Amino acid sequence: MSDSTLIIDGVRAKDIAASVGTPVIVYSQSEIEKRLMEFTESFKSPRLNTKVVYASKAFSCGAMLELVKNAGCGLDVVSGGEMYLAKKSGFPMEDVLFHGNNKTPREIEEAISWGAGTFVIDNRLELRRIISYAKDIKRKCRALIRINPHISAHTHSYIMTADLDSKFGISIDSRDEILAMMDELSGSEYVEFTGFHAHIGSQIFEKDAYAGEIDTMAQLIAFAEKNGCFVKCLDIGGGFAAYYTSEDSPIPVPEVCRTIIDACHTAMDKYGIRLETLMIEPGRSIVAEAGTTLYTVGDTKRTYSKKYVFVDGGMCDNIRPALYGAKYRCDLAEKMDAEKTDTVTVAGKCCESGDILIHDIPLPPAEPGDILAVYTTGAYGYSMASNYNRIGRPAVVFAKNGKARCVIRRETYEDLDALECSRDIEF
Ligand SMILES: *Cc1c(COP(=O)(O)O)cnc(C)c1O
Repeated sequence: MSDSTLIIDGVRAKDIAASVGTPVIVYSQSEIEKRLMEFTESFKSPRLNTKVVYASKAFSCGAMLELVKNAGCGLDVVSGGEMYLAKKSGFPMEDVLFHGNNKTPREIEEAISWGAGTFVIDNRLELRRIISYAKDIKRKCRALIRINPHISAHTHSYIMTADLDSKFGISIDSRDEILAMMDELSGSEYVEFTGFHAHIGSQIFEKDAYAGEIDTMAQLIAFAEKNGCFVKCLDIGGGFAAYYTSEDSPIPVPEVCRTIIDACHTAMDKYGIRLETLMIEPGRSIVAEAGTTLYTVGDTKRTYSKKYVFVDGGMCDNIRPALYGAKYRCDLAEKMDAEKTDTVTVAGKCCESGDILIHDIPLPPAEPGDILAVYTTGAYGYSMASNYNRIGRPAVVFAKNGKARCVIRRETYEDLDALECSRDIEF
């Protein structure tokens, strides 16, 4: 095979496109496994138990959860659907954390009866619902209280989660409310308060953001302990950055883990707190760079000032450019060494002018039928995919050491029809 061919984990991209069709999201399984291992091996402390919890909303399917389980990581879910996948895939439910700012009564019942280990409690009303249902069916679970620490990481406003008016968690300034929640939990026979959770955003590049978050949370823990409440566990969330383009310089995983562990040790000494367990919840940084989307180039078009390359997918399989202005790199999979003499805009096939995947990127001259590979599409691509324009969601392939397996098949026209019915509603 020549160097001008894109190879993903030992498999030629063109061969995958030829046998599975396009668009297809191809993951390097070795890369996912490497990231999981980097986190579990670097996130260790002589003074604390540590746990890496994968945020499944970044990308999930049975095959992915298998890798997470094999790495010994926990799983973070935010809906009944994500939890159902965990249960169905045989993921240890004890290691599942149930997040979300508006868990429905049904989801709470499911979580408790399916044995989800830990709730991350968003607010007081939810807290009462959980306590009451756990008591009804006499099942035990643990609870972390989600705190908004008001630390802002410099990121897009849609993915900032800790500003003053964020919808997530309880403000760290509402100390009476936090104490009242811990008090209610201490009166519950079934729901055990274990600690606090915070998550300050996504695609975070600054180490200081985590150090600041930990210092702030440690002050809250010291306050809780002064009020007679032992805080066993601190979960500082996810948000570790991935490399999309040369504008990004993510902190290497071992380094970010060391920073967090060191900051935690420092805070424990500074505020005299006893803590038993420290948790992190990476999502994006585990899967983003492992994923590459392959599209087939259709037509090309020149407009007043642009040269468009059209592909057979778009915002339906990757909404991030339209939603956040996210940037990507791409190549022509069979013209890797060709000179990039064109500057093109890669546009999808959806009926929205905003359906542009990449603006003004250098590329060799593209022809209909070429395979265009967009890199770093492994996180929040498939999981945010839609059927806009009744386009079926793409297939997903895991490649490893020269072999490939399809782990999610392409959605068909029949799949798109499957939900239609004509059923009278009885009142
Ligand atoms: C989204 C989210 C994560 C994962 O964020 P990444 O940026 O993908 O690492 C972790 N924890 C919580 C609570 C989240 O909402």
